[in-house]
Formats: sequence, C-alpha cells, structure tokens
Amino acid sequence: MKCAQGGNFTTGVMQPFGNIELSPSSGVLNYGQGLFEGLKAYRKADGSILLFRPEENALRMRMGAERMCMPSPSVEQFVDAITKTVLANRRWIPPHGKGSLYVRPLLMGSGPALGLQPAPEYTFLIFVSPVGNYFKEGLAPINLVVENEFHRAAPGGTGGVKVIGNYAAVLKAQQAAKAKGYSDVLYLDAVHKRYLEEVSSCNVFVVKDNIISTPAIRGTILPGITRKSIIDVARSEGYQVEERLVSVDELLDADEVFCTGTAVVISPVGSITHLGKRVEYQNRGIGVVSQKLYSTLTNLQMGLSEDKLGWTMR
Ligand code: PMP
Repeated sequence: MKCAQGGNFTTGVMQPFGNIELSPSSGVLNYGQGLFEGLKAYRKADGSILLFRPEENALRMRMGAERMCMPSPSVEQFVDAITKTVLANRRWIPPHGKGSLYVRPLLMGSGPALGLQPAPEYTFLIFVSPVGNYFKEGLAPINLVVENEFHRAAPGGTGGVKVIGNYAAVLKAQQAAKAKGYSDVLYLDAVHKRYLEEVSSCNVFVVKDNIISTPAIRGTILPGITRKSIIDVARSEGYQVEERLVSVDELLDADEVFCTGTAVVISPVGSITHLGKRVEYQNRGIGVVSQKLYSTLTNLQMGLSEDKLGWTMR
C-alpha cells in the first residue's frame, strides 16, 4: 500500500522559539504519528556556513513519512526550509571548531484523529540549538552495555525510520544503563537475540584486522547518514567495509568499536559489558581507524578539506 507524499508545505513562517498549539486529539499526541530529523550546520574558518548532506535527511524523512502514512515536503522544500532557518539563526552558530548548530526538523499529524487513522492535517516545523559534544566524554571512549531484556525494534516495525515512538521504546533501558554508570545501551536483534543492531541514537561499527564491519540495514536499524558517509570515506581510504550480520560474540576479539551519528559524529567505544563480562578496547583509548575516520569526516564537515564528493552545502 502506498500513502500520500504530497501536501501543502509552502506557507512557512519564521517565528521566535516558543510553544505551539495542538489539538488534544491530534494524530501525533494520540497515535504517535510523528517523525523527526537531525542535522548540523558548521561555521568555517572564514565565517561562512556549511550544511552536511541535508538532502539525505530530506530523503529519509520522505521514506519515514511513507511508512507513517503522512505527506512530506519535497527534497527541495525541505532543503530550502532548512537553509532559510539556519541563515535566520546564523548568530547562534558557534565559532569555527567550537561546536555546531543542531537543526531539528519535525513532521507530525497535527489535525484531529479520534479513531485510529492518519491525521487530516500535518505540520512541518524546524527548530535549532547550538550544541557541543553529545556525550560528556567528548571524543573520549564511551562505555556501552549490551541490552538483553528490551529491544529497540522488531522486524516489520518502524525501527528503520526516524519515528518518534522508537525513542520512547529506548528510554527505560537507557536510563537504567546510565544509572549503572554506562554511557548508553547496545541493542541486539529481537529474533535471534544475537546480532548487533545499534545504540539508542547511533550506529555501530566493529574493526578487526583493519576490516570494518557494521550491521546491514534490514529494516530494524536506522540508516544513519553518518554511517553511510563513514562507509564511503573508509572505502575511499582503502579499507574493506562489510555490511552484514555482526554477532555479539565478535565484540570479544574486536580491535576497535565505534559509534556514528550526527550528534556524536564518531564516538570510540572504550568498553562493552555483555552478560556481566566487560571487554575493553585500545586500552580505553581511541583506535587508529576510528581516529583516522573521525579526522577525515570532521575536516570535511568543518570545511577544512576539499569536498571532492560534493557533500557540503554553503
Ligand atoms: N540510529 C538511531 C536510532 C538514531 O537516532 C541516529 C541519529 N539520527 C542514528 C542511528 C545515526 O543517524 P545519523 O548518522 O543520520 O545521525
């Protein structure tokens, strides 16, 4: 079944950050009919502004909207709205090298839907906030725990798109892990309870003998834009990259593990605890491969290296 992709998203206004009005019976409040995206604007050394692959976020939002029976802005409308919002907020973009402006687009069923059905009206909005590092450890290694009770997504569910409800599903496990001193949770697949999926808000990579492996996209993990970019960057630097089923047992003798996401960019993993057993990586430092890929990607994102792939927009 196909859902609508049209909709009138042409009447945008810029207004100060503040509360919005929603019908108590709106689709988003009652049935979770909502999607979001996340991207970053950086300030280059010469003061100009750079956006990293915004059209990828537009395409992912359109894919999610199709799954959620929502109309969505076209790629052009999405990128145009993002650009205008970033430019209107340029004074909030931190100086070069000191962080970035996080951009959060939201698409939701804002019209009333009392019975279970897609909402009759939709709202697309964007808000922004200056940010520093996502994990308080910064580029220092994070400590993950493998989750054995809860799953983030099941086959046939909405794990492969950026639906708001996916994040509701991870709150409990994430809070429990943080209370025990871990940085975040690493999820396993819900069927075999054996293959790596992803962390609450980032994708995961395992390095062994210079071969980089990451769980394949099979509908239950989010196709991260940083994940895709890292795969391309790694291949262009001559690494072999495998997208496949990665067993939790492979964590035991991995050389390096790292996570990727817009917020974290790359976070090296210093330790993973699974069934009470803790494995440490790189003497809890940053692995050679993680460091190299981090430098290549962030140099590109901050406009410090030539953008041969045309990934950045000014
Ligand atoms: N997985 C999940 C569940 C996420 O929320 C995110 C953040 N968007 C990612 C992976 C990484 O995706 P991206 O690189 O596009 O930020």
